[in-house]
Amino acid sequence: MNMLLKDKVCIITGAASPRGIGKATAQLFHEHGATVVITDLVQSECEETAASISDERVMAVACDVTDKASCDAAAKQVFDKLGQIDVLINNAGITQPLKTLEITPENYEQVTDVSLRGMLYMSQAVLPYMVEQRSGSIVNTASVSAQRGGGIFGGPHYSAAKAGMLGLSKAMAREFGGYNIRINSVNPGLILTDITGGKLTDDMRKNILATIPLNRFGEVQDVANTFLFLASDLASYTTGAALDINGGMHMY
Ligand code: NAD
Repeated sequence: MNMLLKDKVCIITGAASPRGIGKATAQLFHEHGATVVITDLVQSECEETAASISDERVMAVACDVTDKASCDAAAKQVFDKLGQIDVLINNAGITQPLKTLEITPENYEQVTDVSLRGMLYMSQAVLPYMVEQRSGSIVNTASVSAQRGGGIFGGPHYSAAKAGMLGLSKAMAREFGGYNIRINSVNPGLILTDITGGKLTDDMRKNILATIPLNRFGEVQDVANTFLFLASDLASYTTGAALDINGGMHMY
């Protein structure tokens, strides 16, 4: 197999969810020769996930992406142990199926903090190392909800947080291109994971499926494969881009 991330150190946030996009990405990156750093809220869950992938070239580091000190400490721990940070996948995210008038201040903070503030803090934590190395790749997990204004599962605050990520991603790509650091985003459609917390009803599923030309929901592997492309040198001239992974649900 062509190892696309051989000897690269790749940090993936929100990677401990057993059926999540982050874990599938860590597994794929590991298969491609990377040392993967599993980060998520709870250290024991990070360790379990890491152990389920391999006993070599894996590291588990608890990190709450909404807490700047936690992000800085995680990046330092990785650099001190592994001596480099090549890839950051900003994958942590939560969603809530609310309507505009239902969103409380707490709801707003919860959802925007994990996706948007978390992306900023984790990127700020790794960028100084990438600048020093004069190389790096950051990929941010936005959503089709950012592009079409929700209407799938997450509420308007989720759309806003994800749309904010697209703007932040492009602005950072502009700023750090001169250091050979590429920064891109992905916009997944509906991917079958636990993020919906059992609140996606059969009716909702049926209605959504009818809008997808490829006639299936997305799988975590679909997103992991796109992360692999953007993280690796295959995407050497791609920065500030946002790639859709939505089965054709949204075209423009
Ligand atoms: P998931 O719930 O399986 O995984 C998300 C992970 O983020 C969890 O392990 C959770 O513990 C972690 N997390 C939450 N708050 C955190 C914090 N403060 N710090 C660190 N980690 C935190 O969900 P998933 O479907 O794999 O989602 C991954 C990403 O993809 C999210 O950003 C989500 O918004 C995005 N996305 C998902 C879909 C979908 O349909 N599943 C669609 C578009 C975008």
